[in-house]
Formats: sequence, C-alpha cells, structure tokens
Amino acid sequence: MPEDLPKCPSCEVNTHVVLINTAQKVGTAIGGATGAACGYIGAEAGTIAGAAIGSFVPVIGTGIGAVVGGLGGALAGFFAGAATGNAVGKKVDMEVIGEYRCNRCGTQFES
Ligand SMILES: [Zn+2]
Repeated sequence: MPEDLPKCPSCEVNTHVVLINTAQKVGTAIGGATGAACGYIGAEAGTIAGAAIGSFVPVIGTGIGAVVGGLGGALAGFFAGAATGNAVGKKVDMEVIGEYRCNRCGTQFES
C-alpha cells in the first residue's frame, strides 16, 4: 500500500521523503519487551503442563518441560508485542509527531 507522504519543501516532490520513525522503533522495543513479559506469564499454564508431562521422567524432565514452556511463551509474546508496538509507534510517528526527512536534500520538516 503506497503511503501518502508530504512533499519536501525544497524539492517539491515526495519521491525522496521518508518518515522519521523514532516512535516506531521505540514502540517495537517496548512492545517486544512487554509482550515477552506477558507471554512468559501467559505461558505459565504451558509451563505447568510441560512440567507435568516432563514429570514422567522425574527431575530432569520437569526442568526441561518448564524451561521449554516458558521460553516458547516469551518468544511468542515478544513477536506479538513487537508487532503491536511497531504498528502503534508508526501511527504515533505519522499522526502525532509527523516528522519527515528528504533524502535528496537532507531537509527535515513536519507535515
Ligand atoms: Zn528535498
């Protein structure tokens, strides 16, 4: 989907204009961290199940089951959270901050 970029005030074209995506990067990082934490908590049920299954092989199996369950949840949570944070951050960049840079002449401007 082509984005509706504003024109550079110097060049008067938008072909070299890019959105300065600070909030998008921050949002991705925060979303990923939050998602990993939430995913880890959410995975506790999976951890317990994994540990229970692992308990058929006592001690070692329980530990492996718990670790695999917890990591899987944290990883899934990270990607889900990062995607959400990325989308939210991009919206903030476009609609709240609205700062753009022209890669042709180097001008930074607000839309
Ligand atoms: Zn320009």
